[in-house]
Amino acid sequence: MIEFLHTSKVYPNGVEAVRDLTFTIKQGEEVFITGPAGAGKTTIFKLLIKDESPTGGTIMFGGASLNSLPDKEIPYIRRKFGVVFQDLKLLPDRTVEDNISFVLHAIGISYSQRKEKITRILSLFGFENKYSLLPKELSAGEKQKLAFARALSTEPEVLLIDEPFSHLEVASAWELLQLFCFDSLHKRTVVVITQDREIARKSGRRVIELKAGQIITNV
Ligand code: ADP
Repeated sequence: MIEFLHTSKVYPNGVEAVRDLTFTIKQGEEVFITGPAGAGKTTIFKLLIKDESPTGGTIMFGGASLNSLPDKEIPYIRRKFGVVFQDLKLLPDRTVEDNISFVLHAIGISYSQRKEKITRILSLFGFENKYSLLPKELSAGEKQKLAFARALSTEPEVLLIDEPFSHLEVASAWELLQLFCFDSLHKRTVVVITQDREIARKSGRRVIELKAGQIITNV
């Protein structure tokens, strides 16, 4: 489903964030990408959602090259990804409901379908009585849950989660991942970034380990 073929990224300031990366992630796989700060983990996410373009090599998604994707098709590809950013990127002045609605609206979901999807996802995540709360009125765990709910509200094929263990105790973050993110039934592909290589190793999932922009382990 996802294929990096000798992919490199040099940012305009000359920093080579990833070099000659070659790996494949199959549909339904759950993969941890680990490595120290600056190893190139976030750059991989940015390349996948076409936030950045590679300066060398190729990235394939669903059998098509992302390199040659016309600009007008970028939104269509982005829809296939649900992203939970490291800083969550919740909209601070929007309610719980509007944080979800905003994303669904952006991808062109009609008003009536939005209502239906919001009701479904917010009850799944236990937010029935919290529609009108602002992010600052939520606990750390609830904020993370809302970010998961928002990423999943579009029913993405691939869920990308950046550093889910940086907000909560590891056990609580794991619980949320197990409850809401990993879903072998629906063959959802999940890619989790963590600096903590012990967590990655103990996850029981496939681990891609990066060091200075290169893969040092892929098991
Ligand atoms: P990680 O997520 O593993 O911490 P990143 O992919 O964020 O690593 O960064 C890899 C390297 O690329 C780092 O040296 C970082 O400073 C650099 N980098 C990341 N984003 C940019 C950017 N937009 N412009 C220039 N350099 C960047």
